[in-house]
Amino acid sequence: MRQKQLNGLAFFILIALFIIVIRLKEMPQSEGISIQNSGQVQSLELLTAMKNETAEDENSSQTSIDEVPDYTRMYPELYTVYSASLKTTLPKKVAYLTFDDGPSENTFKVLDILEENDIKATFFLVGSAIKKKNEDSLERMVHEGHTIGIHTYSHKCNEIYCSVERFLNDFNTVYQQIYDITGERVHIYRFPWGSNNSYSKNIKDALMEEMDRRGFTCYDWNVDTKDSVGKPSAYSILRNIRKDIKRQDHPIILMHDASVNDLSVQILPDVIKLLKELGYDFDSLDNREPYQFRW
Ligand SMILES: [Zn+2]
Repeated sequence: MRQKQLNGLAFFILIALFIIVIRLKEMPQSEGISIQNSGQVQSLELLTAMKNETAEDENSSQTSIDEVPDYTRMYPELYTVYSASLKTTLPKKVAYLTFDDGPSENTFKVLDILEENDIKATFFLVGSAIKKKNEDSLERMVHEGHTIGIHTYSHKCNEIYCSVERFLNDFNTVYQQIYDITGERVHIYRFPWGSNNSYSKNIKDALMEEMDRRGFTCYDWNVDTKDSVGKPSAYSILRNIRKDIKRQDHPIILMHDASVNDLSVQILPDVIKLLKELGYDFDSLDNREPYQFRW
């Protein structure tokens, strides 16, 4: 009977040991699952983080797309691949005559004087001034080797300098207009009142950056004849040239050929004579490196 009890006890102990062994085996397995689960949690966290990062990237790229102003997508044909010249590094004295605000009936006379002197010049045209009666002057400019630049269509500060969009709209009008008449794509321009004027100061940086991005080159001037300011005289025009041209080997001379600028045409032969006496040759602006006012 005692032996039976002992056998029973031994059997019970064996069963108990068996259960303990089984439980011990299960323990690491369940921990393993728990680790695996925590790994899954970690992986999930990682995935979520990556997803969030991707979303953030998408958001930031969305933001950068949003940050590109709409006007960059306007007028897809309004681009040029002009490479500005670096010829001014040459030690030669070259003067660049420039005529703003044309064309007009005066433009034909200016072209005649330039032809007589075998001189190339640059005309910054105003689109609204182009009429049937002076369209031929544009063709003459091209055929006679002068350079055409854009000086806006309206030349009205309260229209062109409201916004970059309005400027581009105006610029594109005259750009297409000149192309239709001459077959030439203009690649240089001059702002009305120059690049550093008080009308455009709120949009100036964005505007110049956008024009630059589209490949257009801006030219201001470094010799102001003041032929369109107040009541100029032949004397004051020549005096202003003499004053500004000092130490300028590559002067850009501002003149005008609108219908009101009769005096500019009358004095032009004397201007050319003076520049020749001072030792200058002549050329058109697209053979000169760009020049803008410093501000
Ligand atoms: Zn002007």
